[in-house]
Amino acid sequence: MKGYGGSILHVDLGTSTISKEALLDEMVQKYLGGAGFAVRLLYDRSRPKHDAFDPSNPLIVTPGLFDGFGVPTGGKVVFCTKSPLTGLIGDSVMGGSIGSELKHAGYDAVVITGRAKEPSYLLIDNDNVEIKDASDLWGSTVPVTAEMVKEKEGDVKVASIGPAGENLVRYACVDCDDRQAGRAGVGAVMGSKNLKAIAVRGTKDLVPHDPKALLDLNLEYVNKMTESSAYESDTKYGTGEFLEWINADRGVFPTRNWKEGMFDERKEIDPYHWAPIYMKKNKACFSCSKPCGRLFTIDEGRFAGLAIDGIEYETLYSLGGVCGTGDIETVAKGNEICDYEGMDTISAGDAIGFAMDLYENGILTREETGGLDLNFGNSDAELRLLEMIAKREGLGDILADGVKRAAERIGKGADKYAVHVKGMEPPAYDVRGIKGMALAFMTSTRGACHLRTCAYALELTGKFWKFKDVDRFSSEGKGEEITDMEDLVVLYDVLGVCKFSRGYFFAEGFTDVLKAVTGAEISEEELLRTGERINNLKQLYNLREGMTRQDYVLPEKITSVPIPEGESKGHLVTVEEMNRMLEDYFIARGWGPNSVPTREKLNELGIDF
Ligand code: SF4
Repeated sequence: MKGYGGSILHVDLGTSTISKEALLDEMVQKYLGGAGFAVRLLYDRSRPKHDAFDPSNPLIVTPGLFDGFGVPTGGKVVFCTKSPLTGLIGDSVMGGSIGSELKHAGYDAVVITGRAKEPSYLLIDNDNVEIKDASDLWGSTVPVTAEMVKEKEGDVKVASIGPAGENLVRYACVDCDDRQAGRAGVGAVMGSKNLKAIAVRGTKDLVPHDPKALLDLNLEYVNKMTESSAYESDTKYGTGEFLEWINADRGVFPTRNWKEGMFDERKEIDPYHWAPIYMKKNKACFSCSKPCGRLFTIDEGRFAGLAIDGIEYETLYSLGGVCGTGDIETVAKGNEICDYEGMDTISAGDAIGFAMDLYENGILTREETGGLDLNFGNSDAELRLLEMIAKREGLGDILADGVKRAAERIGKGADKYAVHVKGMEPPAYDVRGIKGMALAFMTSTRGACHLRTCAYALELTGKFWKFKDVDRFSSEGKGEEITDMEDLVVLYDVLGVCKFSRGYFFAEGFTDVLKAVTGAEISEEELLRTGERINNLKQLYNLREGMTRQDYVLPEKITSVPIPEGESKGHLVTVEEMNRMLEDYFIARGWGPNSVPTREKLNELGIDF
């Protein structure tokens, strides 16, 4: 098939061994690319039950299948490893240009193992691959690192970590072009390998099977996007455009560490308020014609000179609502700290909101916070604590391990306030009023996550794809819904297409582009079967690492405390509902009640190794 670089690159940083292997037909046919290659390689190349920071833990980078072919929004790349936050698969997707560059260098996957003796960076210059000294880069922020690597190597694409990754903050991220593989701590694994950056130069031709058909399809999709009625608001206000709607109309914006479902002080953090004041221009991921990112700048006052890419909806929640902060400049400064230090804004904000809850409930004392007055809404304390997390200072050292471990370390009943699923801090959807998403949080193979199903949009509007009249307050029929959404949505990570294009691209839309790129005729049904195969293999990896049925559990705040006010007032997910939805899901998946795929199901999917 066309469309591939043709090789998998293996780098052992411990022994400085570099080797290449040809991409096998079986890999292509069964897993296609991107997230499919990542999970298969992770499964094959991992030593079972190793620690995430063990040098043998592979860090795998896989471009999406469409990367390098100008497909609108089709430039995503997957960073995948065992997550130090959850101990499960940690696959995180970003929109930086490094994915396409890797394809142009001839690689469909890079597998990095071992730990370098000294700080290092990896240079992949087409066929020439070198491990180089990064002693002078160690300690640098993300943007400074990228700049320094480019000064040394010229015109390269750079993915790098900041000090948080070096300090093994368990939710450290990897950045390329101000886009992040944010979740699951992939940056911490990179730091544990003494690997500061990956620089790539790829100048080889990538020729699709049918260039004319591909060009026509690409133009068709660009036109669909730019002519859509949502284009203007999507690009003007970005991912936060529905913040007011989620608060006032749906009442599911988790606030003050999930105490409330509506943030009364939200006016200033709403992009309809701040975009006209602070937004200078649009920014986009690589290969995107719908630039939902923005350059956000502050020109005067104590944060004068700040210039960040953002602020995304999830960050308005985590550094805003969860911490009770309604001041947009504080949220922007917190966003900058996370970007520079290289930390996931969701987990970092959730960890601080959790600490504030403990402080207000007398579980953390002022002495334990290092003198910080950690009440909700104390913006100075929030910013100080972000710095402390990145440096692992005082309370920051405890919070750097994530909410689950922090609760275990603090004790005194702190676990009652810890909001996480399988060790992952949640995104901005109060699932007490979105029951399908409550199930999706539990079934996601990387813990509480909105991007493994994107079912929030389906549940909050009542319709998407083949689903109609969905009732977000009901726990009926969610097993099949979430199974089908997972198998659809993983395809975006396989092909490297942004999930914000899902209003334009469904599985049937992918088939034509796939044919133009690769020459293969793959039906919509076969594509969805591939999605199912990949999700089953992710599950097998997690089971091998020790996950059990007991890990499918929602936090106490969701099962015991109803939303106190607003449009979702009185709703929660009872333990009975939680268990019933899970049973429905295991049946829909063809798994046993213990969450283990049956032999019959695996044979049907061709997972026979
Ligand atoms: S729609 Fe937004 S997130 Fe998606 S590829 Fe474009 S800029 Fe990136």
